[in-house]
Amino acid sequence: MKRLSLAAAVSGIVLGASVFSTQAVADQTFITIGTGGQTGVYFVVGQSVCRMVNRNSDEHGVRCNAPSTGGSVANVNGMKSAELDMGVVQSDVHYRAFNGVGNFEEDGAWGEMRSLFTMHGEPLTVVARANSGINEFADLKGKRVNIGNPGSGQRNTMDVVMNAMGWTVSDFSLASQLDAAEQAAALSDNNIDAMIYVVGHPNGSIQEATTTIDARLVPVTGPEIDELVETYSYYTHSVIPGGLYRGNDEDVNTFGVAATFVSHAGVDDDTVYHTVKAVFDNFDRFKRLHPAFATLTEESMISDGLTAPLHPGAKRYYMERGWIQE
Ligand code: GLU
Repeated sequence: MKRLSLAAAVSGIVLGASVFSTQAVADQTFITIGTGGQTGVYFVVGQSVCRMVNRNSDEHGVRCNAPSTGGSVANVNGMKSAELDMGVVQSDVHYRAFNGVGNFEEDGAWGEMRSLFTMHGEPLTVVARANSGINEFADLKGKRVNIGNPGSGQRNTMDVVMNAMGWTVSDFSLASQLDAAEQAAALSDNNIDAMIYVVGHPNGSIQEATTTIDARLVPVTGPEIDELVETYSYYTHSVIPGGLYRGNDEDVNTFGVAATFVSHAGVDDDTVYHTVKAVFDNFDRFKRLHPAFATLTEESMISDGLTAPLHPGAKRYYMERGWIQE
């Protein structure tokens, strides 16, 4: 968060007999929101939040930008180092980072993380080339699979799933680590047999993959997946509706998480207050910015999937609206 004081410029203009003073410009606070690849939904979340915030920057002084990043884990790390003020983070990564468990055990618990709200659902999505012989999740074994860049949420979740399946990277003939935005082209170019993305629907990446070649969404089911859903409260069975992508008319069963919007204790209360206020004061407008936002409700956004405590700035706004009591 960078704060610049632009308040110094107060000038007097003499016009005939009257004297006008220009208004002192309020202190400006610049915030950066971590998102994901440009063909995913996190990028749109960040851009949309910023659009709402920047509508009234002249009044509250907060200016927002939301660059593309490597995804959930990169966003957590960016907030830890204070390069990012806020970020979109998968609910499973959120839980592990806050508690320092699973693949965050080495890093330790990050108790400074603070919740703002929950966004859309994100099913674990496997897309395979139609002629790859991959019809179910277990068929990935021995194939060329993009397991995701290390900063991504899908890679973090895949580590858990691979562990549950008793697989390591050597169970694939190729385990590539391409960024989310690169995987559809890699699939189309026949450099990989399948791509993996934990992502809201519809999105540009899967659209790209299914329109450039014949590709199908693969179900992610089986006893190992059932056990993950039973064991961890942040995993749920989920369905990718049929008809969203070319050649994929049937519903596909899988499991998934939710995207959460988080910040950290180092970001001041007013800044967070104005950010959540911008979103919820303009909620209908906000929801129209992506089809994955259409089913969001205020109630579920401030209660579901949030592991870290609410940021006091968010709490202040939710109390003002009467959505929560102390
Ligand atoms: N869930 C993905 C991640 O955490 C990002 C999905 C998106 O960009 O919409 O890396």
